[in-house]
Amino acid sequence: MATYLDWYGCATFSLRTSGMTIFLDAYIDRPEGAQGTGLTASDITEADYILIGHSHFDHLWGAERIIENTDATLIGSYESVRVMETLGVPLDRMICVAGGETIDLGPDVTVSVHPSQHSCVWSHAQMDEPDVVCLGDLGVHWHEQQDRFVELMKYLTTETSEATRAHLQESQPGHSDRGDGGALIYLIETPEGSVLFQDTSGRYDGIMGELKPDVAILAAAGRGNINGEPIQGSLAQFVAQQVDLLRPQSVVFGHHDNWMPGFSIPVNTEPIISEIENLPFDVTVLEPGYLEGTTILPL
Ligand SMILES: [Zn+2]
Repeated sequence: MATYLDWYGCATFSLRTSGMTIFLDAYIDRPEGAQGTGLTASDITEADYILIGHSHFDHLWGAERIIENTDATLIGSYESVRVMETLGVPLDRMICVAGGETIDLGPDVTVSVHPSQHSCVWSHAQMDEPDVVCLGDLGVHWHEQQDRFVELMKYLTTETSEATRAHLQESQPGHSDRGDGGALIYLIETPEGSVLFQDTSGRYDGIMGELKPDVAILAAAGRGNINGEPIQGSLAQFVAQQVDLLRPQSVVFGHHDNWMPGFSIPVNTEPIISEIENLPFDVTVLEPGYLEGTTILPL
């Protein structure tokens, strides 16, 4: 038996393990001109579970169609479940979590859920390259973050292409602007080893320091959030700090393709890999392309 990972672009993956298909996020559709698989969520015909990292459209949207076309059960925050309920997904196909839960996915596979943080998306418009050192923006309280988020939305709805704007409109039914819903990270335990899934560049140091996955799927985009404050440093440093906390044997990046041109950038992973290579232990960086069915376990 082995565990395989398929990347669907952005932070969406599917994990095939112990005869099950577990989606990690569900965002598969893309605006015209974006990088991606060319598939839509309607093309997915096999899924047993969908684990949602947070409620933003670029993670959650599409789950409603995967659930309709498969027997999948969604596991996500109360907000993710609320959004899906407004799209007509039956409540008995969803499990609400907030962190602290361990759920049996099958006889040999479990997932544990842990609270996490969202990247400091309020702090920037278009994303920076991963070796750009970002300083400041410390101690910015909720109201100012909201004001800056409104500025970002203004930017996205005026400065991006028509295709991107149309995509933004289409992808937000049921959201009515209630935010990320609280970010979660998941630790999936399989007979061959464990896999951590993070879909946005944020963390609680105390929580991440307790988790010891064999494989870590880590978001590699945006301004990192450490315990609620923006990293004073680069994205490359942020990702490498997490590798240091988790000490996995291998790392896979997510969220680093150009999934929404005008906001995202195709992240050059080289500076991130050099930061990881500077750590005083061995870790393998896997960089699968789309839908390559990469064997990630056993190592
Ligand atoms: Zn998000």
